[in-house]
Amino acid sequence: MRTKQFKAESKKLMDMMINSIYTHKEIFLRELISNASDAEDKLYFRSLTDQNVGLAREDFKITISADKNAGTLTIADNGVGMTEEELDKNLGTIAKSGSLEFKKANDKNEEIDVIGQFGVGFYSAFMVADKVTVESRAYGADTANRWTSSGADGYTIEPCEKADVGSVVTLHLKADTEDDKYSEFLDAYRISALVKKYSDYIRYPIVMDMETTKLKEGIDTSAEDYKPSDDDYETVIEPRTLNSMIPLWKKNKSEITKEQYNAFYKDNFFDYEDPLVCVHTKTEGSATFSALLYIPAHAPYDYYTKNFEKGLKLYSKGVLISEKCGDLLPDYFSFVKGLVDSEDLSLNISREMLQHDRQLQLIARTIEKKIKSELTKLLENDREGYEKFYKAFGTQLKFGIYNDYGAHKDVLQDLILFPSSNEGKLVSLKEYADRMPESQKAIYYACGETKEKIDMLPQAEAVKDKGYELLYFTDQVDEFAIKMLMSYNEKPFANVCADDLDLATEEEKDALKKENEAAKDIFTTMKEALGDAVSEVRFTGKLKNHPVCLTSEGGISLEMEKVLGQMPGAGDVKARVVMEINSNHAIADKLRADANDAQALEKYAKLLYAEARLIEGMSVENPVEIAALINELLTK
Ligand code: ADP
Repeated sequence: MRTKQFKAESKKLMDMMINSIYTHKEIFLRELISNASDAEDKLYFRSLTDQNVGLAREDFKITISADKNAGTLTIADNGVGMTEEELDKNLGTIAKSGSLEFKKANDKNEEIDVIGQFGVGFYSAFMVADKVTVESRAYGADTANRWTSSGADGYTIEPCEKADVGSVVTLHLKADTEDDKYSEFLDAYRISALVKKYSDYIRYPIVMDMETTKLKEGIDTSAEDYKPSDDDYETVIEPRTLNSMIPLWKKNKSEITKEQYNAFYKDNFFDYEDPLVCVHTKTEGSATFSALLYIPAHAPYDYYTKNFEKGLKLYSKGVLISEKCGDLLPDYFSFVKGLVDSEDLSLNISREMLQHDRQLQLIARTIEKKIKSELTKLLENDREGYEKFYKAFGTQLKFGIYNDYGAHKDVLQDLILFPSSNEGKLVSLKEYADRMPESQKAIYYACGETKEKIDMLPQAEAVKDKGYELLYFTDQVDEFAIKMLMSYNEKPFANVCADDLDLATEEEKDALKKENEAAKDIFTTMKEALGDAVSEVRFTGKLKNHPVCLTSEGGISLEMEKVLGQMPGAGDVKARVVMEINSNHAIADKLRADANDAQALEKYAKLLYAEARLIEGMSVENPVEIAALINELLTK
């Protein structure tokens, strides 16, 4: 009998299993039980159309037995089994995509952690055993085979005797060491607890012989003269079913621990981190269904790519009909994971039909409301948790406001947050609006790449000087979303860089108007020097320290111009720009002094315009000319 080598990546995986840290080792049982259950599923489905299988639904079971003397733990199933070729192919290579994924992780610690979280399959047996045998007889075959391996050295396959179809996996447990007690996996109570923890909703009974204390036969405890005595009891060994077989979501909430909810999430939705929120609901009425919904604590790596597919698992009376039903979730809540089980859906409904199903639409609407209310609760009761959520998925909510011409803005406007000048924290629009002083007319925001850059904007300074709170828009979608909202609680939004920012009193406005009129000719000359770059040059009273700023007129801001400029096919969208000069700055006096020197005014115009663009985070369009002007100034 020849010893065969494992495929290269299987060998690597095996090494990882053998050297894994102890706390994760217990999951081997979950993996082997899940393989057994899959094999039974296969044969059960077959039995529905194939009379020869000869097994009824209730005949399928998984049997666990421990032999303390031999130090072996055995997991047996009466599923489809494997032929010689299948033993070779399935157990000689890694099949699981999850395993392949984590194999890629380079960091050793990261790898180990992933073992604890993902399904790692058959090889996990080598975390606790130094030798594993699999005796298997495939459905339809007359002969059986034994696969044996003692780890990384390879494996052998030889014929063996086996009366029934199915597989028996035997683990020769490693010897106990000071730190690692492998023998605990021979203890029926330990095994029973592990089955409850990881495999409770496996559909087939998982049976194990357990010691139980029982009243001896013939003893009548109801007899009048009965006195309790230890001798009346005996210890017997009886097979017991360890799992409840009820899917988690069909149980009562009170019976389920947070740990179980979280474990279910991690097992089923391929995450290594606990979810932020778990909702378990049962709805009755126009649509009757149970749902288990989770809000992840971080975005999946492909979340903001086109490969990401939203959706919930859909069951009809406990039977899976769709792995990912996208119609159950609106795009803006696409981050939600979970499942829906409904009595109202027909099993043989096709995927295309599903989309138009009235029942399904009702369910989707109820789910949307539920998610909204859960997020609202999180925002109110667990700010830290909500901010973690928002960091991962906030952009998606803002896109949700902007998309579909703002059709969903009412659902979403109270869920978005922005960084604010108020202690640098994130605020909701409600929080902002609630603490606005009477005199404040608008909700102020400024756009820029970072908070620091926005703080450098002269206009931002002016607003903060007035004592008003400023929202920092650093995400490209921010201003687009806000334009959809237009106002919040009847307070309009105002970009501090817009020309109509109205912070001045009536007297201040009057004074400014007079100054502008007096300087009309100066500004005409300056505007001409700048050509189409600006639509107007004028004095402003809103700047404090800076001499100049650019503001935009009309609906398109400079920030939007930047974003739109990067989008293919957006055309040549230009903001209408006004150059505003601080009427209280020394520069203003300089301009007035040189009012009749057109050449000087042209130079000032160009330099001030370049300076303003730099402050806005834009490039200078004519660097050589500007450099020459600066040099001229420096050498004067
Ligand atoms: P996965 O279960 O993710 O496919 P495993 O490494 O656990 O990966 O198992 C590899 C393959 O071996 C399975 O896909 C299945 O075809 C086969 N297999 C494992 N255990 C059994 C079993 N008890 N009965 C029948 N086939 C099995």
